[in-house]
Amino acid sequence: MAELPTPPRRRIALIAHDGKKTAMLALAREFEPLLRQCELCATGTTGARLASEVGLTVERLLSGPQGGDLQIGARLATGGVDVVIFLRDPMTAQPHEPDINALVRACDVHDVPCATNVASARLVLRQFESEKP
Ligand code: PGA
Repeated sequence: MAELPTPPRRRIALIAHDGKKTAMLALAREFEPLLRQCELCATGTTGARLASEVGLTVERLLSGPQGGDLQIGARLATGGVDVVIFLRDPMTAQPHEPDINALVRACDVHDVPCATNVASARLVLRQFESEKP
């Protein structure tokens, strides 16, 4: 019997503002088995911490304030990202707010799911878990 084709790996972009990095690490630990099966990219510091503290393989882009959010936005605009998990800190002004807004706008323009808090991120990741072959 012919083998079934392997389903494409989910491509997840991960970003956390400084006030939310601990929450991102906890989320990543909670969903570690799933995330290990996905292609991950992240802004610089978020990606470094996910790699060193959770042990995930992550493609690190530039840090958010250096343009990492825009890199992710460009990638998703050309079909390279399936979901964005962007743990924003609404309590703290960010120096790169225009870039953040551009990324969220790109998600809406291209209808790419964008979870901006832990509760919505859990819903998305649980859905992915339930779709695992
Ligand atoms: P960082 O960037 O992961 O490099 O801290 C996140 C952001 O501030 O958008």
